[in-house]
Amino acid sequence: MSELIEKPQPQDLAYYCKCFANLNVNNNKSRGKSPHKPILLLSVLELVAQGSIVNNRILVSDELIEIFNRYWNSFVEFDSGHQRGIHYPFTHLRRDGFWHLKAEKLPDGVRIKTTNKLKELVDYAYLDDELFVLLQDPLTRQVLIDILVATWLADSQTELSDLLDINQKLERIDRLELENLDADVKVVWRKSVVRNSLFRKSVVYAYNYRCAFCQLRITRNPTQNIVDGAHIKHFAEFGDSKIDNGLSLCKNHHWAFDLGWFTIDDNYKILVAGDLDDDSPYARSMKDFHHESISLPSKEQYFPRLEALEWHRQNKFKA
Ligand SMILES: [Zn+2]
Repeated sequence: MSELIEKPQPQDLAYYCKCFANLNVNNNKSRGKSPHKPILLLSVLELVAQGSIVNNRILVSDELIEIFNRYWNSFVEFDSGHQRGIHYPFTHLRRDGFWHLKAEKLPDGVRIKTTNKLKELVDYAYLDDELFVLLQDPLTRQVLIDILVATWLADSQTELSDLLDINQKLERIDRLELENLDADVKVVWRKSVVRNSLFRKSVVYAYNYRCAFCQLRITRNPTQNIVDGAHIKHFAEFGDSKIDNGLSLCKNHHWAFDLGWFTIDDNYKILVAGDLDDDSPYARSMKDFHHESISLPSKEQYFPRLEALEWHRQNKFKA
């Protein structure tokens, strides 16, 4: 009977969004949901973004293990009861349909219990071809990272404040340990797309989803709102994702800030370039905000750093 035949799912981005939001993870009564799979996927997305994974072969490389451990230490509390180890998700992700193993040396029914065994018995993992093609697009990666972060690390307001802590923790690790990393890992870490995603979410949360310039606030839910977490000193150049290098800005004012049409002085007052031809019949014009204070986060520790604002005035602002 034809109605019993299951239609194959279209393997498009929407399909993989669902897969990423519905990973089969262990849910232990005392420990809670197991973070292994989301962290492994974040690590893989990171290495694809950095050009370290260029064909559809995910090796158990030192680089992957390093990133996995780093995210683990940042996301998972020390006393959570979860056991760190890339070998769990690397083999168990097979049950989620899009992740496959090439492992001819792995005997049937044998469970891999250490990372060394994983290296020894598994050649590599590979994704559905459709998924791997989709991952070549930075916007697609961003969507999937946001889903992993929102679903597994921040699906409520309370957890968003945890996210802010995680972001700060990642940055602290950065300062303390960056010198000791291999050059390759250092580049990956400085330009991490996952850190960038955490930064954006943390900044808009710190500003309560409001534009620091015009105070516009439109939200639909914690993952959909009209503001961006903007870097004051450019991320690509400085790799600085500390909250105090951020401003929450609506799309228009993010654009204008990046172009240097306005800047902010040491007293958090707006300075607008004098030569803007600015006509805004239904809202206040940009020039009208000249010398007004920006709206700031409730906590002073998240205020924009004066040194970063000075950099913006010197390097971006065209008075
Ligand atoms: Zn605005």
